[in-house]
Amino acid sequence: MLNIVIFGAPGSGKGTQSDKIIAEYGVEHISTGDVLRGEIKAGTELGKTASAYINEGKLVPDSLIIDMLAATLDAKGKDIKGVIFDGFPRTIAQAEALNDMLAKRGQSVSTVIGLEVDDAELIKRIIARGATSGRADDNEETAKKRLDTYYSQTLPLKDFYIKEGKYAKINGVGTIDGIFADIKKAIDAVK
Ligand code: AMP
Repeated sequence: MLNIVIFGAPGSGKGTQSDKIIAEYGVEHISTGDVLRGEIKAGTELGKTASAYINEGKLVPDSLIIDMLAATLDAKGKDIKGVIFDGFPRTIAQAEALNDMLAKRGQSVSTVIGLEVDDAELIKRIIARGATSGRADDNEETAKKRLDTYYSQTLPLKDFYIKEGKYAKINGVGTIDGIFADIKKAIDAVK
């Protein structure tokens, strides 16, 4: 079972590269951002709680996200080739919960694909995406808050996964296909 975490700041290309990884390896996609946007659209209690955090560029509380992730993972069933976790984990508590969840299933994280992109490029990409994404959080003000959140709460995970020997550093600036070629090498090394 291939369990890939795609890791990086907002705008680093996680969604774009996830699509290519799914096409190549036939793994299931779990994007916590997409699941949350689905909850908001459906008007659920979780969606209502989450939207306040999302619009402020803050993280939705760990307990809510971890329960949501477990339910989403269970819903995929057992007959799958693997999963790409996109936008999760975003905190050490979430990474530990993911390790526990996978261990209970006799599995583990196979590799963490770390897309590294400089801040100026990230802000440029998020603003450009805002023109077509329709996402309320894809504007310059919220993008800057999301980056602050990333550096304070999510970046520490890089060291967490380096210590576990799982972190594959990928230069996230270049052509989509060129970046994917580097990702493919990292995944094939653990397959
Ligand atoms: P994304 O689509 O991954 O950029 O996520 C959009 C927003 O959803 C984030 O800025 C957070 O507010 C929230 N979110 C998504 N995934 C998580 C997560 N794993 N933990 C906490 N909040 C999350």
